Amino acid sequence: MIYKVISKLLYNRLSVTLPDIVHENQGVFIKGRSILENILICQDIVKLYNRAAVSPRCLFKIGLQKAYDTVEWDFVENLLLGLKFRTIFCQQVMACIKTTSFTLSLNGSNFGYFNGQRELKLFHLMFADDLLLFCNGNALSVMLLLRALSTFSKASGLSMNCSKSEDTRLGEKKLSYAGRLTLINSVLNSLYSYWSNIFILPKSIIRRIEAICRNYLWDGSAEYHRVPLVGWDTITLPKIEGGLGIKKAEVWNVAIVAKLVDWIYSKAGSPPIDAAWTWKSICKVKELMKDAYTDGKWQPNLKGYTVRSGYDWLRLHQNKPWWYNTVWNSWNVPKHAFITWLIMHIGMNTREKLYRFGCCSTDACCICENATEIQPHLFFEYDYSKAVVALIQYWCGAFISMSGAMAGGYGNVGGKLKQQVPAIILTACIYNICAQRNSPRINGILMVPSLVAQKIIEGVRQIIKFKCNAKMSRRDEVWLDK
Ligand SMILES: [Zn+2]
Repeated sequence: MIYKVISKLLYNRLSVTLPDIVHENQGVFIKGRSILENILICQDIVKLYNRAAVSPRCLFKIGLQKAYDTVEWDFVENLLLGLKFRTIFCQQVMACIKTTSFTLSLNGSNFGYFNGQRELKLFHLMFADDLLLFCNGNALSVMLLLRALSTFSKASGLSMNCSKSEDTRLGEKKLSYAGRLTLINSVLNSLYSYWSNIFILPKSIIRRIEAICRNYLWDGSAEYHRVPLVGWDTITLPKIEGGLGIKKAEVWNVAIVAKLVDWIYSKAGSPPIDAAWTWKSICKVKELMKDAYTDGKWQPNLKGYTVRSGYDWLRLHQNKPWWYNTVWNSWNVPKHAFITWLIMHIGMNTREKLYRFGCCSTDACCICENATEIQPHLFFEYDYSKAVVALIQYWCGAFISMSGAMAGGYGNVGGKLKQQVPAIILTACIYNICAQRNSPRINGILMVPSLVAQKIIEGVRQIIKFKCNAKMSRRDEVWLDK
């Protein structure tokens, strides 16, 4: 604790002078500097590299290996003395680094003491561990640069990190639609939101990212050339407005970069005519957001600007669909919810649709082959699905229909269950009938309605028992098990 107080005091005193002693080329860790400036400068330099008239140039990107763990303390001391800090201050800093013992506090208990020699975390702030070096592209320049690096490395204890970044691959096994949706929302979203934190991505890259997300959603792979079942504009709406809550890359990108609008306004005027394209495109964001940012202030509904509020300000809006609570009920099995969402958007590839697009030689129903296969025929207006649903209705004591009118008593079921049970049952019916519709083609068999109904009831029972976690009234238990 005392160590923390002392080191904080020393750090506060040091930080006053940091902007003067750390060269302005160091873009991070110093108050008032942004890594963005260095990235933009780098882009401005590199954009000229591929011009034919330019003499050979060389760029090194160097990652320093665990900079904080390997730095030599003598180097730190000499550095501090060399920068003309008072001897007493240098001694205090070095005392903190070299002689302090640390106590490790874990879950409230203290464990032993450590010599503070390589474990110190405070000095992390002083070293950024990535640097770019530019020099002429001839052998002599490169050799001199490497020699300088080597000298620096010996003196400071900092060495170059040559290890390659890890290459992680996703498993080969295909996930369900619902699983893929989760993966898209987490992995791909964070991937592009990382890059779009600073850049307005080129349209071609945005289109490619969206194509990968779209193809992965519908097919589980990056390449897919059929017509998507539901349009991307719909998918990228929030769930409460009928979509899947995947973010629209282009709009999200603008919303993130708009965080910098304050910063852009603080820089004078418009970008120079020969500025890199990135820089110009960031300035365009300022234009896009000009109605949201007036007189140096954000509109009140942007909450002082958050990326989420900015995204909401920029994107399209739709009304809440009537089926929202049914489809996205929190007790639903995710894959049941997804298929039901698809059906609510008339997104299923029925034979009628496939026939119309010339992808199928007949429009007759996959199961009965007696009628045109349109969605209402499958849910639940023809013999097979009607029979399944009739059995479920008999069991639960309520009327089930696609129009959302799920009237009836559900036996004696009450309280919390009353909201969940209708949604669980409807989405389970839709999912299982879809599965049976594909089953003759895939498995060569079609289950009789009574077996399908039994399967659905069994599934519903399991979900309810699992979710209730044995906290169920006797009355509900009787209803569930009958
Ligand atoms: Zn049919």
